[in-house]
Amino acid sequence: MTTFASLEDALKHFFGYDTFRPGQKKIIEAALQNKDLLTIMPTGGGKSLCFQLPALLRKGITIVVSPLIALMQDQVDALQDNGISATYLNSTLEYEARRSRQIAILKNQVKLLYVAPERLLNERFSLFLDRVHRDVGISTIAIDEAHCVSEWGHDFRPEYRKLKLLRQRYPKIPLQALTATATKRVQQDIVRQLDLRSPDIHLASFDRPNLHYEVQPKDRHVYHKLLRAIRAETGAGIVYCLSRRSVEEVATRLCHDGIDALPYHAGLSDRERSSNQTSFLRDDVRVIVATIAFGMGINKPDVRFVFHYDLPRSLESFYQESGRAGRDGEPSKSILFFGLGDRRKIEFLIEQKSNQDERKIALQQLRQVIDYGSGNDCRRKIILSYFGERYRGNCGKCDNCLNPKPIEDWTIEAQKFLSCVARCQEKFGINHIVDVLIGSRKQKIYQYGHHLLSTYGIGKGRTADEWRMLGRSLVHQGLVGQTTDGYSILKLNKHSWEIFRNQQRVEIAVDKHQTKTTANYNPRKAEAELLFEKLRKLRKQIADANSLAPYMIFADSSLRLMAQVRPKTLADFANLSGVNEYKAQQYGDRFISAILEFGEQHKLPISIPSKSQMATLQLHQQGLSVVEIAQKRGFAVGTINSHLSQLIEMNQPVALNKLVKADKQQAIIQTIEQVGDLPLKTIKDALGEDYSYDEIRLVRGWWRSQRQSVLDSQ
Ligand code: ADP
Ligand code: ZN
Repeated sequence: MTTFASLEDALKHFFGYDTFRPGQKKIIEAALQNKDLLTIMPTGGGKSLCFQLPALLRKGITIVVSPLIALMQDQVDALQDNGISATYLNSTLEYEARRSRQIAILKNQVKLLYVAPERLLNERFSLFLDRVHRDVGISTIAIDEAHCVSEWGHDFRPEYRKLKLLRQRYPKIPLQALTATATKRVQQDIVRQLDLRSPDIHLASFDRPNLHYEVQPKDRHVYHKLLRAIRAETGAGIVYCLSRRSVEEVATRLCHDGIDALPYHAGLSDRERSSNQTSFLRDDVRVIVATIAFGMGINKPDVRFVFHYDLPRSLESFYQESGRAGRDGEPSKSILFFGLGDRRKIEFLIEQKSNQDERKIALQQLRQVIDYGSGNDCRRKIILSYFGERYRGNCGKCDNCLNPKPIEDWTIEAQKFLSCVARCQEKFGINHIVDVLIGSRKQKIYQYGHHLLSTYGIGKGRTADEWRMLGRSLVHQGLVGQTTDGYSILKLNKHSWEIFRNQQRVEIAVDKHQTKTTANYNPRKAEAELLFEKLRKLRKQIADANSLAPYMIFADSSLRLMAQVRPKTLADFANLSGVNEYKAQQYGDRFISAILEFGEQHKLPISIPSKSQMATLQLHQQGLSVVEIAQKRGFAVGTINSHLSQLIEMNQPVALNKLVKADKQQAIIQTIEQVGDLPLKTIKDALGEDYSYDEIRLVRGWWRSQRQSVLDSQ
């Protein structure tokens, strides 16, 4: 076995990645110390690597328990394409194939073996495993999708319960359980059911920083909004609808409008479903329009967008579904089309439920989705508060943060609101509290004697809607608690008390005016984007020739790097993140030729970014804000901004719209056109206080790049 100077070296050697994702390194270190582990990471966080890399660094074989045959095959294909000896044994294999795999395993030629839980526990296989244990050694048993062991999870599988027998049979072998499910109850259940021994528990944040969240009003133009949104994206995506009928309808209309789309729902035959799914995995079709039946067990890392055409039933399912975008860590988009019509439809369905508990829970779930769709707070904050995480500040990557509603200090209102919660003895939800505040004459008020409270009617200065907005915002910001038993009762917490004591101010985003829509400048598609498209096509050809999914050849992020860095030698090529020696040998030549050919066809730009500028660009493309990039690189914010403006000038793919608001861009451009390309100060003086040097510099970069391209074409 090769030894490595560091885990990073091993990561680069086997997988081609340069850095670990958050949490991975710690988990891998613990695994290498033979600890039992429970890893909770959101979908796309990079769980697999946490058992795959240790497997490659230890003696013997790692057994991976995985519930879905399709997923198993997928992971094994991807590993083999990295030159790693992995295999699976399941019921789809012929006798001969099974036998030759078993022989390879006993010859110690396999590092990772994937099996389904039911197989692990049958008699014949147990004997085989005993032999493997004796002759080869089993380094770890990794249990993927470990929530399947719990009845409290969303996907209970009885055969997972029997996995405990493995612990009894091989008490010395460490167990590593992995899941994306968040709830405490399921976590505890996993530890108990699998009999994990004082496991290291790694709970990663549920934030998915590369996802951009947006909500658009659902009105009668909704289909056209969807179409526009899809046209604005490159790459593959999923559109979720609630019913089969709307799946069929949307898929048909999209095809009619020139978007490559296929439907997926329970009404199709198994064959059709699986063939549509394969087309999607292989990038033969760009968009899948699906009911929620789609997505479980697909593992396509380069889904660039997930759009919800209809209202999801719960925030949990919304999060799971939108989380299928961007598992490779590249910027990806979620849009929810949100309208009150959907709300009524779902309410109607819920009212039909005869079981009162179910009805209550369904209504609460609906309320949470509505909260998300109608909230003025950061969307990320709303989602994470649902998972019990408190997110602070402006995420810069949701519609509410990018077009913030004006912020107002509502501390006094919050004090009134919270004291009303206290007077009602923390036994009511938002609506009742608001009724008391505005002095409503509803029956329920008199029934509880709440018209006698000192807080009755103290909120007449504001409308019921405003009070509700405040209440929701307090919940999202974690400034008051809310029960999850279906009643959403407000409970004071330590922050509420700080507000009473004037130790904490309350600021909320206030939606008074319709936000005006601003003209959107769409900077010219940069050359890197064109080269990226060319490399995508090449990747697709190679994938088809090898019957692999394109992402198994290279991730989008690696293609993007190729398009930016344009390596000309195999050594430079192998240096890119996501490329290891093996892949460089396999595919390097073809990609390098394509890059050279492109260079011939398109004159290379006169100036090429420096290494340092490239490093800034990479972080920018990962979605980090200017401040975050500056922190990470240890530079001043101004330096990063000047990198970005120079990159823009060199026509590199910088998302100007994320850095400067569209209406400001417009004003700056107009000013430059009027006064000319003069020193920044002159332009700033003409624009006035509202514009910073950085904003002007960035937009000037864009203006210059446009001028340059006009000059080029003359
Ligand atoms: P999960 O199982 O947690 O949903 P995966 O293990 O499938 O996530 O990983 C998601 C994607 O992220 C995969 O395409 C994987 O190759 C990629 N990935 C994992 N770790 C890294 C890393 N350190 N750097 C870059 N990409 C990574
Ligand atoms: Zn936000």
